[in-house]
Amino acid sequence: MNLEAEILKGLQAQYQFRKTKGAWLQEGTCPACGKREAFAAAKDPKIVRCGRQDRCGWEISVRDALPDLFEDWSKRFPETEENPTATADAYLQHERCLDLRLLRGSYTQELYRDHKTGHTSATVRFAVGDTYWERLIDRPGRFEKKAHFRKGGTYKGHCWIPPRLSMEEIAKAEEILITEGIFDATALCQVRKVAVSAMSTNNWPEHFLADLRVELERIKRTTRPRLVFAFDVGRAGVEYTIKYVKRATAEGWDASAMQVRPDGEGTKKDWNDLLKEHLDWAG
Ligand SMILES: [Zn+2]
Repeated sequence: MNLEAEILKGLQAQYQFRKTKGAWLQEGTCPACGKREAFAAAKDPKIVRCGRQDRCGWEISVRDALPDLFEDWSKRFPETEENPTATADAYLQHERCLDLRLLRGSYTQELYRDHKTGHTSATVRFAVGDTYWERLIDRPGRFEKKAHFRKGGTYKGHCWIPPRLSMEEIAKAEEILITEGIFDATALCQVRKVAVSAMSTNNWPEHFLADLRVELERIKRTTRPRLVFAFDVGRAGVEYTIKYVKRATAEGWDASAMQVRPDGEGTKKDWNDLLKEHLDWAG
């Protein structure tokens, strides 16, 4: 069954439309008001809405209504002989809205198997330090953790550097944003910032800063770029930001911090989320 047929089947199972002939699926059960008013397009539906717009107003994107179908990236975009990273490419492009030109060459596509449950998932894997970090991409909700480092190796002291960014470009920058995650650093590079990832909040990037000082000397720059700690919102992010700004300042760097401003209570967004909401954002 192709994706569109599976979507129609999934929507029918969920909303039980009584009228399915013609251009619209109609008289489905609205989960908010319980009335038989839910409807969606019969061809390539993107959204399901309640017809009682003023009195109920419920709606959901088909993506959110049927997450399992959309998160089965291996099925939707299987790897091929010509493109062994086809699944990872699709995930980065469609789920993360990242520009593959900024990432190509820095990742591989692998297969992860959970030894307890036997579930498998394609992963997108990035090397950092003498270890790697990989993100599970096929219906990641089935797994205890959505991402992990290789056991045994370490990224301590290192940063992940976007492959298109040279050490010279980094050393010439006015400011360097240091994020928690790879996708955040890439999202910021996409809006023309210079950003690297420390891979976690609890990782003082001593090796990266040492390499940076060597490069500053090599290009004979007498000032230093400002370090901006751009960690995720939350207690750990804030605590380590304060600690690291202090430490950077003590080591002779001009340092500051930035965080994603939450738009409402209880929302926790990262730089990648912000990029997805503002694809026309130019920094
Ligand atoms: Zn309703």
